[in-house]
Amino acid sequence: MEKRSEKRVLSEFEAQKICSQYQIRTPRTALAKTEEECVEKCNDMGYPVVIKIVSKQIVHKSDVGGVAVGIKNEKGLGEAYKEMMERVGLKCPDAVIDGVLIQQMLSGGVEVVVGGLKNQQFGPVVMFGLGGIYIEVFKDVEFRLAPVSRAEARRQIEATKVYKLLQGVRGQLPCDMDALSGVITGVGQMLLDHPEISEIDFNPILCYPDKCVAVDARIVVES
Ligand code: ADP
Ligand code: MG
Repeated sequence: MEKRSEKRVLSEFEAQKICSQYQIRTPRTALAKTEEECVEKCNDMGYPVVIKIVSKQIVHKSDVGGVAVGIKNEKGLGEAYKEMMERVGLKCPDAVIDGVLIQQMLSGGVEVVVGGLKNQQFGPVVMFGLGGIYIEVFKDVEFRLAPVSRAEARRQIEATKVYKLLQGVRGQLPCDMDALSGVITGVGQMLLDHPEISEIDFNPILCYPDKCVAVDARIVVES
């Protein structure tokens, strides 16, 4: 009999828990099911914040207007919340909305992507490259087989064009390359330790001189 495998996307919190086991930083995050709860939790966390739509039917949140960044106060939050629900309702009328994710807003930083996947021929593979909305446009990515040592991760980063940005342009300080190679190594190890993980997509990881933070952590498991 053929065995059917089922794929499940881990919640942001489940994904963040795994990240912390591999020393991968994530921003402070909370979940709210209603607008009132959202206001309460944002006030608790402190502004600026980002809110993101949570729905099993929505994978690329910003494509449907499901991400609002740079919310500075309670008034801005009320507007952003209503506008987001309106946009998402129009674009995805059938999606079941489970709530919104509230995140501490990080400013600046170089956006990179670190991904993990399983190649049928080669097994676990780690991807690194330019992240955010330009990933499709520039296709500036490099692949390495897991496990990826720190030194190999370093060479993987250096093989991309985004490396120039990470070194700091126009007087900016260079990004934390130890932290970033640590994320790549961590993703490789995650794939090896957890064969049930079929896909990892950390896009973007925001890179700074003193840290790298995964602000969108998507992990898919197969049972
Ligand atoms: P999706 O990829 O599903 O559209 P993301 O969570 O990646 O949603 O958010 C979209 C974009 O919003 C990111 O590429 C990043 O530029 C920005 N962003 C998301 N979370 C944060 C955050 N906590 N701080 C700063 N910017 C963020
Ligand atoms: Mg993303």
